[in-house]
Parts: sequence; structure tokens; C-alpha cells
Amino acid sequence: MDFGLSDEERAIRDTARDFITREVMPLEQELLRRERAHQPGLEPSELRELQLKAKKFGFWGLATPQEYGGMDLPAVMQSLIWTEIGRTFVPFRFGGEADNILFYATEEQRQEFLLPTIAGDRNSCFAITEPGAGSDAANIRFRARRDGDDWILNGEKTFITGGNEADFAIVIAVTDPERGARNGGATAFLVDRSMGWRSEFIPTMGEGGPASLFFDDVRVPHRNILGEVGQGFTLAMQWIGKGRYTIPSHAVGIAERALRMAIDHANTRETFGTKIGTNQAIQWMIADSETELEAARWLILRAAWTVDAGLDPRHASSMAKLYGAGMVNRVVDRVMQIHGGMGYTRELPIERWYRQVRLYRIFEGTDEMQRLIISRDLLRGYTKLGGHLG
Ligand SMILES: Cc1cc2nc3c(=O)[nH]c(=O)nc-3n(C[C@H](O)[C@H](O)[C@H](O)COP(=O)(O)OP(=O)(O)OC[C@H]3O[C@@H](n4cnc5c(N)ncnc54)[C@H](O)[C@@H]3O)c2cc1C
Repeated sequence: MDFGLSDEERAIRDTARDFITREVMPLEQELLRRERAHQPGLEPSELRELQLKAKKFGFWGLATPQEYGGMDLPAVMQSLIWTEIGRTFVPFRFGGEADNILFYATEEQRQEFLLPTIAGDRNSCFAITEPGAGSDAANIRFRARRDGDDWILNGEKTFITGGNEADFAIVIAVTDPERGARNGGATAFLVDRSMGWRSEFIPTMGEGGPASLFFDDVRVPHRNILGEVGQGFTLAMQWIGKGRYTIPSHAVGIAERALRMAIDHANTRETFGTKIGTNQAIQWMIADSETELEAARWLILRAAWTVDAGLDPRHASSMAKLYGAGMVNRVVDRVMQIHGGMGYTRELPIERWYRQVRLYRIFEGTDEMQRLIISRDLLRGYTKLGGHLG
């Protein structure tokens, strides 16, 4: 058994680390200053500039097929890079990406939606959640009715990331209520903002925020259906599946950076005439954090490896998401404790992480939904104990 990285994986990982350290991390103090002043941390133009700089380093479209100019990296490699991104609290991501399901676009949709999204000229958002249906996503009520060559969309979507900035939305709507979303009754639509939907920003604990989208008789041509009529729920699950290893991969980077800060602080801060790191209470927090961080790392890499091996990744990804999200919350909480009062201030990024990572236990499948999937797989015998080694 080999737990090492290949030379190629190490080289790409180190180049990503170098880029983040040299080009992104220097913006961190300015970001904190702006956020303290209630200004946006990073302007879209600044993000774009960084992404174009990264492109020169070769980072463009981590998951995007090469025919679209992307890197088309294996999931393990993407996971390693998301961990590097997590080391900075600047809300950076590499450019050249599009929602994974947009690649189902027809030739016409490719020109109108996919290519401009990859190029960074258009912004998308993905909308399945509704006020009445979050975890129970198959219970959506947002309706699309056929009218000649068009469909008429009505309803509300909520908590949509990027919904206030998006030029177009990928919306999952009920097209056949009799069948139910899970059984071919839901369809994905590509809907331009200019077709008439509006959005409202939702303030949250984190920086930035999602939006509610409102559709009132929005007319959408049939050619704007993504995939097939009735395929919407399957596409939605595919979209959500992707986040189940990228989110915890990001969490590993955050936890490592935060824990490093805690170790440095424990080695320098003195109370009662001695470094706080000499106290067992502090040592145990550091030991527990490192142990959980390592456990999460290997669960996540195994989930990504499962994707690359062409196996069904759902069980492994649910464990990675559940454990990785919990881990980063526990680690950041301990790191704040080790920093005392300073940890609670906006001088340091710790309280920012504390607010940010709370979301990781909620979106793209709550902790409880991951547990539901993991236990259901075992109780119904879909998965055997011991995973692929079992
Ligand atoms: C910042 C943010 C960004 C988001 N981005 C997007 C996006 O881009 N697109 C999108 O479509 N959605 C998005 N979401 C929505 C997100 O996926 C949902 O909030 C999430 O799935 C939970 O749904 P809910 O909020 O309706 O909670 P509910 O489903 O109402 O759940 C409430 C609580 O009950 C628990 N629960 C529910 N059912 C069960 C059960 N059977 N057993 C045990 N416990 C249960 C849940 O785990 C949770 O703790 C986002 C949410 C947030 C907060």
C-alpha cells in the first residue's frame, strides 16, 4: 500500500501552493481590513485578474475537459488543489470552470451558456432548494408548464449561491407532478436573468451571501432545457455529488492553516511565566486536531480516488463530507480557544473561519443527510463494511 503522491501530483500541488502563497495570500490583510469596514472582501475584477494570472501558471479549468481548454484533472488532484486553496481565507478559486452539469449543453447552449461561463464572461447559479424543500429536494414544487414551444416557470428558489450576481440560472422545475421529481417529473432549465426572474440577497453569518430567486410567469423557450425533459433530478444529484469531496478538501486546507497558527501561538504566548503550549490542556487540543485532520484527509482522498477508479463514490463521499465538515468546525473552535481573546477579534481570520465553516455542515447535504445515506447503504446492504478492501 502506497500513501505517497506521484511526482506529477506533487509537482502540480506544489505549483498551486506556490501560486496561492505568492499571489493570493498577500491580499489577506487588505481583505480583513475591507471586511471590517463592511466592504466586499474581493471585487469580481480582482478575482478575475488573479484567475488570469493563475492561467499563466497553467491553472485553468481544473475539472474542465481539455477540448474546452481545461486541465481535466483526476479527482484526487482536484482534491489536493482545493486543499491548497483552503489555506488562504481570500475567497479565491481557479478560473475556467463551469457547473459540471452544464457540459450536457447542446451545441447552441454551448455557445450561449457554457463557453462564456468557462471564459468567465457569464456567471451561473444552480437552483434546486425552495422555501419548502431543502434536504427533501425531491419535494420541490417550483413549476414549469408547457405552452407551445415555450415553458412558463413559476415559483421561488432560495439560498442560491451566486444568485444575486448570476446572469443565468440552472433551475430544477417540476414538469410532471404526477411522476414526482425522482421519477422523471423534474427538468433542468437554463434561464437568463433577462427572461424576467429577480433575486434578493439573503444576509447570512458568512461573508457574501446567497439569494432567493423569484419567477413569475417567466417564459423560457424549449431549446433552453438542459439535458432531457425529466432528467432534472438526476442532473441535480450529479451537481451536488461534486461538492461532496471538494468542500471537505477545502476544509482540510483551512484546518491546516488554522492549526499552524495555533501551534505558533502556543509556542510564543506566555502565561504564568511559561508558554501556553507547555500545558496539557493546550497540547490535547493540538493533538486531537491533528488526528482528526489526518483522518479527514484520508477519507477525502479515498472518496476522490473512488471517483477516479470509476466506482460509485456516493458512500465514500458522504463520509468525507460528514467527517470533513465536522472536523474543520472542531479544529477552528479549538484554534480560537488557544488564541484566547485575540481569536475572537476581527484582527485575525479565526472568527471569520468560524462563521464560514459552519456552513459546511449545512449546504450540499446536511450532516444528517450524509448520515442518512451512510446508514441506509449499510442497513440495506448496498455497501459492505470495510469499503473496497472489505
Ligand atoms: C449559504 C448557503 C448556500 C447555499 N447554496 C445553494 C445553492 O447554490 N443551490 C441550492 O439549490 N441550494 C443551496 N443551499 C441550500 C442548502 O443546500 C439547504 O439549505 C440544505 O440542503 C438544507 O435544507 P433546508 O435549509 O431546507 O433545511 P431542512 O431540510 O428544512 O432541514 C432542517 C434540519 O432538519 C434536518 N433534517 C431534515 N430531514 C431530516 C431527516 N429525515 N432526518 C434527520 N434530520 C433531518 C436537517 O439536516 C436540518 O438539520 C444553500 C444554503 C446555504 C445556507
